[in-house]
Amino acid sequence: MSGTFLGMPAFPAATRDAVADPTLRANLRHATHTIRDKRAKAVAELDDWARLREAGKRIKDHTLRHLDRYLVQLEEAVTAAGGVVHWAADAAEANRIVAGLVKATGEREVVKVKSMATQEIGLNEALAAEGITAYETDLAELIVQLGDDRPSHILVPAIHRNRGEIRDIFRDRMAAWGRAAPEGLSDTPGELAEAARLHLREKFLRAKVGVSGANFMVAETGTCVVFESEGNGRMCLTLPETLISVVGIEKVVPTWRDLEVFLQTLPRSSTAERMNPYTSTWTGTHDGDGPRVFHLVLLDNGRTDTLADEVGRQALRCIRCSACLNVCPVYERVGGHAYGSVYPGPIGAILTPQLRGTESEIDASLPYASSLCGACYDVCPVAIDIPEVLVHLRERVADRGGKGHRLEKAAIKAAGWVFDHPRALAAGERIASRTRAVHPSRIPGAGAWTEGRDLPVLPSEPFRDWWRKNRRNGADPAGLGVRGPVRASPDADAGRSDDRSGERPEGRSAARLDDQVGDRPGDRAADRAGQRASEKPAERKDGDV
Ligand code: SF4
Repeated sequence: MSGTFLGMPAFPAATRDAVADPTLRANLRHATHTIRDKRAKAVAELDDWARLREAGKRIKDHTLRHLDRYLVQLEEAVTAAGGVVHWAADAAEANRIVAGLVKATGEREVVKVKSMATQEIGLNEALAAEGITAYETDLAELIVQLGDDRPSHILVPAIHRNRGEIRDIFRDRMAAWGRAAPEGLSDTPGELAEAARLHLREKFLRAKVGVSGANFMVAETGTCVVFESEGNGRMCLTLPETLISVVGIEKVVPTWRDLEVFLQTLPRSSTAERMNPYTSTWTGTHDGDGPRVFHLVLLDNGRTDTLADEVGRQALRCIRCSACLNVCPVYERVGGHAYGSVYPGPIGAILTPQLRGTESEIDASLPYASSLCGACYDVCPVAIDIPEVLVHLRERVADRGGKGHRLEKAAIKAAGWVFDHPRALAAGERIASRTRAVHPSRIPGAGAWTEGRDLPVLPSEPFRDWWRKNRRNGADPAGLGVRGPVRASPDADAGRSDDRSGERPEGRSAARLDDQVGDRPGDRAADRAGQRASEKPAERKDGDV
C-alpha cells in the first residue's frame, strides 16, 4: 500500500468526490448488496446464531477484562514453543522492531498476508524507507498495491474497483513489480485470477521472510490463527524461513474452545461462508515444518487507552468481519477512502478516533459519519453497540469545543437551563405557538441543518395547554374514548430490551454455548482490578528481544 491517509480533510469534505462519482457508487452498491444478502442467508441457516453472538460478546468482554493475564500467558506459551515475543507500544516502535528483524536476516523483501494491523501502523511505508520491499499477496491487496491506491474495505480492499479497472491495473503495472500480466488479458475473473497467481507464485517461492497479522491468538497454547479464502496466507505462513506476525493485543482469546465460537461466526458474517476455506494455525516453530524463526509483535497503538474508556472499549471486541460496512447507508454511498483510515465504515468511525485520538480534522469528524440508524449493531456478530459509541465520541469531540461546536454547546446549555425551569419552558412554548405564523422555514445561521428539511410547523397551542383543557381530571371532552392520565403498561417495560436486533438468546438450555457465554470464576470480583491492571499491558517491555 503506497497511498497514505495522512493529512486527510474532514469526512464531509472527503466524501464530495465519492458521492459525485457514479461508477464508484455503482461498484459499491453492487458489492455491498451482494455480500449483505449472502451473509443474511448464511446467518439464517443457524438457529443458534443469537446465542453464538452472545457467546462471542462475552468471550471478548471476559478476555478484555483480564487482558493482562491472558497476554502474559500467551507470551509464556509462545516462548515455550520456540517463538520470540516483542511488545510495541505504538506504530513507530512496531515498525522499528519489524524493520530490525528483517534487516537482521539480510533480506530486502518480504511477502505479506493481508493484515489490518500492519496497514494501521504503515508498515509497508516504514519498510520501504529502510530499503525493504513488502509484496502484498492477497488478491485485493495486490490490486491496491499495484494501483498505487488505498484499501477501501476491511474484507474487500479493492471493492471500489470493477473488473475492467482491475484488468487495466494488471496490464499497466504488473511488470513494474515482477512478472508481467499475460498478453491480451481480458477482464474475466478466471483470467484475472490466473494472472495474479502467476505473478505471486514466483514471490512465494523466492521470499525468505513472511509478515502476517492474525485474526486470533490462543493464550493457552500460544497459537496464532489466520482465516483467509485464497491460500496465499498459507503460502506466506509456511514457505519463508522467518515469519513475523504483528497482532493487536485485543486479538487474544483464552482457549481453543473460545475460538470455536468465532470459527462459526466470522466466516458467515464476513464472506457468508459456512466455514473458512483456509484456517491456518501456528504455534512457535517446529523442526522440519514451516518457518525456522518466529517473531510475534504484540501491538498496543492506542488499544489500552481505548480499554480504559467504559463505553468505547466495546470496539475492541471487533473481529473485523466487515458486516457493519456492508449494511451502512453512509459507507454504501461514499466508500472507504473518505474515512481516512484503514478501518472504514461504522467500525472505523468508532475505532479510529479512539486509537488515534480526535485531534485531527478527519478523526474529529468520524463520529459524525453515521446516520445512527443502528443497522451496524444489528449485524455485528459480537454485538458492538456502534451507535452508542458514536454518540459517546461525539460528546468527546464536542467537549473539546472545536470549530462548529461552540455554538452547539451554547445552544444545548441554554436548552438545559430551559428544561430545568418548567415555567420558562411553558412560557416559551406559548410564545412560540402564538408567533408561529412568522417563523422562518429554515434556521438562520444553521443552514446545514435545515438545508434538506423544513422545520416542523408548531401547533396552535402547546400540548400542556391542550392536556389541561381536555384531559385533566379524567375528562374526555374531545370524545377520544380515553379518560385520565395515560400510563405506560408495565409489560412494555418488562419486555424492553436494549438488543435492537431481536437476536437475544432465548434460553440457556444448550450446555455447550452456555458454558462459553457464562461468566468465569472471578470475573466480577476481578472486574475492577483486571481493568486497572490491563490498562497498560504494553508497558511490559522489560523482556523485549
Ligand atoms: S464492528 Fe462488528 S460487524 Fe463491524 S467489523 Fe467489527 S465485528 Fe464485524
